This record gives sequence, structure tokens and C-alpha cells, in this order.
Amino acid sequence: MFPKSFQKLIDHFSSLPSVGPKMAERLVLYLFKQDQAKLDDLSKIIGDLKKNIHYCAQCFNISENGLCSICQDKKRDQSLICVVEEPLDVIAIEKTRQMRGLYHVLGGTLNAPADKNNALKINELIGRLKKNPVKEVMIATNPTTEGEATALYLARMIKPLNIKITRLARGLPTGGDIEYADEITLSGAIEGRREM
Ligand SMILES: [Zn+2]
Repeated sequence: MFPKSFQKLIDHFSSLPSVGPKMAERLVLYLFKQDQAKLDDLSKIIGDLKKNIHYCAQCFNISENGLCSICQDKKRDQSLICVVEEPLDVIAIEKTRQMRGLYHVLGGTLNAPADKNNALKINELIGRLKKNPVKEVMIATNPTTEGEATALYLARMIKPLNIKITRLARGLPTGGDIEYADEITLSGAIEGRREM
């Protein structure tokens, strides 16, 4: 129905999270109506994205440097590590200004017991805990079935290290994402965190 390269771009957009085919068509039409300079700029930024941004070598947050700005900040509480699923969760929690410690980004959740450590940065977390004087690990995976299962698994792995393990308080909508929680709810969940 559409010219070939128009359709190609629609297909790309449709494959993005939360973008349906109709929305993709509207986005491509919108782009087509823009100046060439704007499109060149956009394609350059997309092309350079993975060249300029990497995962932090310590916490696996996204960063322009080897270590992210949070890991580089010596004023932060080095004895508290907040474990989250994705970099966007770091942003959401940072907005609450309740977390003055460091982070560890897992990169997702455990899906099935079969691929326990695969890709998830769990071994890296345990390594960090063994090497650094950490007093508390605050597990802030999402309150979904997968997030809860991951939290329990992590707690089992961390227990032998004799480190206090806490979990965000209830109050976050079950099945919801930390990324989308409002700041007041998230602040309350951090303040009311309970020991696992
Ligand atoms: Zn970092």
C-alpha cells in the first residue's frame, strides 16, 4: 500500500515497544513532512547512539564514560546498593532523591529457572558485594511476578554474605513498573522498605 522505503520505516517503528502499526504510520508520515536537515540530524544521533553510550563497567547503568556519574560520585553512600531491572528505573528512583547509595542494573528479570544467570548481571553483583564494604542491598525489581521471583532468587544468593537485604514496601501497584510509578509512591516505598 505504501511506497517501499516508507513501508520499511513503518516496519521498523512497529517493532519498537508500545508502538502499534497505526502509530508507526503516523510517525513516518510526520517524519516525511520534516526538513531534510532535521532528518539528517536524527539519523546521525541514532547512528551514533551505541558509539557514544555504553554500560557502566561497575553498575551497568547507561553512561558516556567507563563509569557512570553515580558510580563516580564519591559523596554517595558506598555501603548501600539498590538493585533494579533497567536503567530507566535508576532515573525514576533518582527523581525521588531518597536513594543516596549506588545502583546495580540487572538488565531484566529471571524468566525461567533454566537460564538463571544468563546475561543478567547477577554474578557481577555478587562480585561487587564480596569486594566492597556493602551493608545493605535494596532490591527494587518491579512488583511483577518476574520481579518478585528475581528478588527472592537474589535474596537467596546474597544471604550467605551476611548483608542486610531489603525490598521496596508494598504500595507500588502490583504488576506495575517502577519506571511509571509517581515520585510520592516511590519515595514511600523506599522509606518503608522492609528486610527480606
Ligand atoms: Zn555506574
